[in-house]
Amino acid sequence: MDFLKPRYTPMNRRRRIYEGKAKVLYEGPEPGTLIQHFKDDATAFNAKKHEVIDGKGVLNNRISEFLFQHLNDIGVPTHFIRRLNMREQLIREVEIIPLEVVVRNVAAGSLATRLGLEEGTQLPRSIIEFYYKNDQLNDPMVSEEHITAFGWATPQEIDDIMALAIRVNDFLSGLFLGVGIRLVDFKMETGRLWEGDMMRIVVADEISPDSCRLWDIKSQDKLDKDRFRKDLGGLIEAYTEVARRLGILAENEKVQTGGPRLVQ
Ligand code: UDP
Repeated sequence: MDFLKPRYTPMNRRRRIYEGKAKVLYEGPEPGTLIQHFKDDATAFNAKKHEVIDGKGVLNNRISEFLFQHLNDIGVPTHFIRRLNMREQLIREVEIIPLEVVVRNVAAGSLATRLGLEEGTQLPRSIIEFYYKNDQLNDPMVSEEHITAFGWATPQEIDDIMALAIRVNDFLSGLFLGVGIRLVDFKMETGRLWEGDMMRIVVADEISPDSCRLWDIKSQDKLDKDRFRKDLGGLIEAYTEVARRLGILAENEKVQTGGPRLVQ
């Protein structure tokens, strides 16, 4: 009964809503939905470093689908509806809160630099940080005072965001630990989902090796975007390894790249 399935407008005829560094958002098939398209572009240091890495978008689409679907399944609300094809997923339209929420379990990256901690030091407890999403300003770190004073989120919303961040961290830490990976830190974004007069905060954007630090527990190898930031090479191999360990790709399977094609 394939012919009864809704048809999607080909990509080039869809209305583009927003283009970011690694993703494009298109108008969705129904009101209140969008299509999130994963590109192969890799950027770092506020886009000063840029490369196209064949296959990265396909892997991130699959990994993010896997993580968001599991979050939905355990009752952590997200914008994710379903994956459409190799590079695209159907999502709910939300009002993005202009904050990057970083959760850290182990010292690395900017925290290690800022506080003079050795990379790899276990933190006394998980730490949540907020950064104001603004490329021109280089995403500066902000406190709850800034967030409420400038009206980016209310105190109640900050509480909801922190509760979500802790649940996502606990879920992801356990999931990755089970496949021999240490979740060092990750970034998540949130949005306001309106359902009639009701609003709730949901996890939005993506969660993938582009936005997490993932270290192999045995070898300490980096299986994330630091391979690109630090010119370590082997980014696709690392992301493929993450997908394989999560059971998304079969042992010898490689991602197919190329244009968006229907998977089923
Ligand atoms: N991160 C991200 N997007 C950003 C900044 C950070 O996804 O614009 C992620 C990054 O991959 C890491 C975590 O957030 O998993 C913490 O990053 P950090 O503050 O250490 O900054 P970085 O060292 O990546 O500049």
